[in-house]
Amino acid sequence: MLRCDIITIFPEFFREAFDYGIIRRARAAGLVETEAHDLRQWTSDKHHVVDDRPFGGGEGMVLKAEPIFAGVRELTGCSNREAYSPQTRVILLSPQGRVFTQALAEDLSRNASHIVWICGRYEGVDERVSEALVTDEISIGDYVLSGGEPAAVVMIDAVVRLLPGALGNESSATNESFSQDLLDHPHYTRPTEFSGLSVPDVLLKGNHAEIARWRRAAALRKTQRNRPDLLK
Ligand code: SAM
Repeated sequence: MLRCDIITIFPEFFREAFDYGIIRRARAAGLVETEAHDLRQWTSDKHHVVDDRPFGGGEGMVLKAEPIFAGVRELTGCSNREAYSPQTRVILLSPQGRVFTQALAEDLSRNASHIVWICGRYEGVDERVSEALVTDEISIGDYVLSGGEPAAVVMIDAVVRLLPGALGNESSATNESFSQDLLDHPHYTRPTEFSGLSVPDVLLKGNHAEIARWRRAAALRKTQRNRPDLLK
């Protein structure tokens, strides 16, 4: 069972995010538990302030360290990173992190039993959170979102579908894009002819060796065209 705790100023963002398809089934089967926590519950002032101006000046606001420290400490039961169990990961969603990949999704699905996801907002999060609490600072790509919430949904989806038993057909994860440094091969379904476009003959003849050869060649062509960096 993987436990996912999300720290956010918009817990309602996640209300239905995990209520669909594979992730909903994984939750129902007890493979994963997700809970979004309002960062404001860990503030100690009467206005529940979670942000403040940046030292050194400049635009925007920064999420304060104290409520995030209180939240991570409560959720992990540990006062600092060194005390976490090896199966605990505390992830800060950040455009400054290393870029999320299928390999990292596999690592998390295999090795983590508890993940705390910290969603930033505004100019970001007080750096001391990263310095003392975070095990992984991760970006979902080289662009800037307004908050970490969509990034957390993306990563949780990618991790949960890889948990053993989450996919109906276990082999489908091993044949997918990125599992062998290749993109997936093209897929077709009925009808065989549509709008002047036809399904490649080889897929209709039932010769499995030929189909496998065609799929491999088509996957290579597609990778060469769209993601030549994967072939290097
Ligand atoms: N000032 C930051 C910078 O330039 O690097 C951008 C902050 S961004 C507007 C606010 C929050 O959105 C971040 O703290 C992070 O949690 C989230 N975020 C933005 N882009 C992201 C990305 N590519 N991957 C993961 N999280 C991202």
